[in-house]
Amino acid sequence: MTHDVVIVGAGLAGLNAAIQLAGKVDVAIVTKVYPSRSHSGAAQGGVAAAVANLESDDTPELHMYDTIKGSDYLGDQDAIEIMVNEAPETVIEMERLGCVFSRDEEGRIAQRAFGGHSRKRSCYAADRTGHSLLHALFEQSMKHDANLTVYSEYFLLSLIYKEGVARGVVMMNILTGDIEVIRAKAVLFATGGYGRAFEITSNAFANTGDGIVAAYRQGIPLQDMECVQFHPTGLYGVGILVSEAARGEGGYLLNGKGERFMEKYAPSKMELAPRDIVSRSEQTEINEGRGINGENYVHIDLRHLGRETILERLPQIRQLGIDFLGIDCIEEPLPIQPTAHYSMGGIPVNHDCQVVVDQSGTPARGFFSAGECACVSVHGANRLGTNSLLEALVFGKRAGKAILKYVQSAEFEDVNENEEIANARKSLDDLLSSASTESANEIRTSLKETMMWKCGVFRDKEKLEQALETVLELSARYKNIRIADKGKVFNTELQEALELGNLLEFSEVIVRGALAREESRGAHFRTDFPKRDDEQWMKHTLAYKGPDGSLQFKYKPVIITRYQPEERKY
Ligand SMILES: Cc1cc2nc3c(=O)[nH]c(=O)nc-3n(C[C@H](O)[C@H](O)[C@H](O)COP(=O)(O)OP(=O)(O)OC[C@H]3O[C@@H](n4cnc5c(N)ncnc54)[C@H](O)[C@@H]3O)c2cc1C
Repeated sequence: MTHDVVIVGAGLAGLNAAIQLAGKVDVAIVTKVYPSRSHSGAAQGGVAAAVANLESDDTPELHMYDTIKGSDYLGDQDAIEIMVNEAPETVIEMERLGCVFSRDEEGRIAQRAFGGHSRKRSCYAADRTGHSLLHALFEQSMKHDANLTVYSEYFLLSLIYKEGVARGVVMMNILTGDIEVIRAKAVLFATGGYGRAFEITSNAFANTGDGIVAAYRQGIPLQDMECVQFHPTGLYGVGILVSEAARGEGGYLLNGKGERFMEKYAPSKMELAPRDIVSRSEQTEINEGRGINGENYVHIDLRHLGRETILERLPQIRQLGIDFLGIDCIEEPLPIQPTAHYSMGGIPVNHDCQVVVDQSGTPARGFFSAGECACVSVHGANRLGTNSLLEALVFGKRAGKAILKYVQSAEFEDVNENEEIANARKSLDDLLSSASTESANEIRTSLKETMMWKCGVFRDKEKLEQALETVLELSARYKNIRIADKGKVFNTELQEALELGNLLEFSEVIVRGALAREESRGAHFRTDFPKRDDEQWMKHTLAYKGPDGSLQFKYKPVIITRYQPEERKY
């Protein structure tokens, strides 16, 4: 098959790129889940923009400063400036495209407080913002069905990338098990995050970092992978998210003694300090025995908000508490713990979302990336809540525009389709026909536990070295896994095995990156190096996979334009 452009991923980033292109060039979207099931649809709390409806003194400049400080000075300030400046028009545009935002009393788009934002800046649709945005974009994309082909339930296997040029993708039709190639002049990866490597996570099952690994396997570097965000309020034991909106609306965090413990850690912002700080505070309370009944959780208390506010602004959260823990937050506090939530790292890109392959920003021809799988880097070492839907929308659109320009003068490059298909077939057949006995489930469980507790909220050299040893051992065992289902039709066991291979591969990058970064910055906290070290470490990590499979690090400077690093107090 041939299309001018192939977009892998149908979340906000992929769809917002697609609608810039559809009707103008021939576009394909490849997605392993039906588009409206992309993880963007699970986003709850809102999308940030200084539209200044609720607080008239808000400006993009304040938004920029908050984001830079939130990033712990690892965010690139030029990219952040673009994002915050384009935020207000992006939100208005999404409203015009059909996103039903909640309203204030005067009928304007309502806004609420979020952690690390100095103004009420989050525009929201109750606590189903992502759902509303994703459906609006999906509906818009459907207008163009004549030149927009959606390959729904197709699984990306690899990127075709030779001599510095992306030429298409190899994918598996999940329904039939067939392997197919799409040739294209430009490829966009918008494959989302990678939280599934952790035991407790808010992420959808699909968030296994497939796109990130496909790029890495072609020698493209991965940036800042060690920066993984833990969200402070995951439902205890299951990790499902209780949006920060719950604290934005006034929810309290309480320890086992009934204390609002954030007083000790962030006296001015309290529960609305950035997520890295709140997660560490919570984990400290738990580790020091002040969890509820000494257990691994604390409480979020929403009862004082009252039934009406909860039903109007946080209805989904209430339902999740009832469905997963049997607790109604109108009546009782919810047990919560930090949950792996967001991937700050990813495929390095420039402001037009073109992938860059080295420290000097050399672009990969025809290869673009946007959304959570990309690293522009607007979030640095810690993302502020509601900045990620914004990033996916702003940079998805920019990617679409840049690709449109690129394909006008690009050609289809040679692809040996038969060879690509034969290679992919062989590796799947090898996996299916293996006579070994290793269990993928055991490997996955062990990986997730290791990443959560040895490479999680608190890290140190000893734990990270243990984590690395385990990841390498599991990767060796993975080569001998047994897949019981030998069938072709909807072989979810095979798909999960491929995803596990990806989880293992990028987990090694995370752990090695975390070992190398001997400082604490944003979400990356080393108890053996508890201070931020701007002299040595105000730089981005680039991890390369060499031809022999070994991993090599290079570093590139952070772009500072307006705000010099300062101590981060909240
Ligand atoms: C529970 C939750 C709540 C959140 N709430 C907020 C919030 O309130 N505000 C905010 O700003 N951010 C929030 N976030 C973060 C935000 O939702 C995401 O970062 C953002 O939606 C990512 O969008 P995306 O387009 O990059 O990827 P996604 O929406 O994750 O889409 C990824 C796409 O890639 C496709 N894909 C992946 N792998 C393959 C493959 N191998 N083959 C084919 N297709 C593939 C998937 O099918 C999917 O279509 C939240 C995240 C979670 C998990």
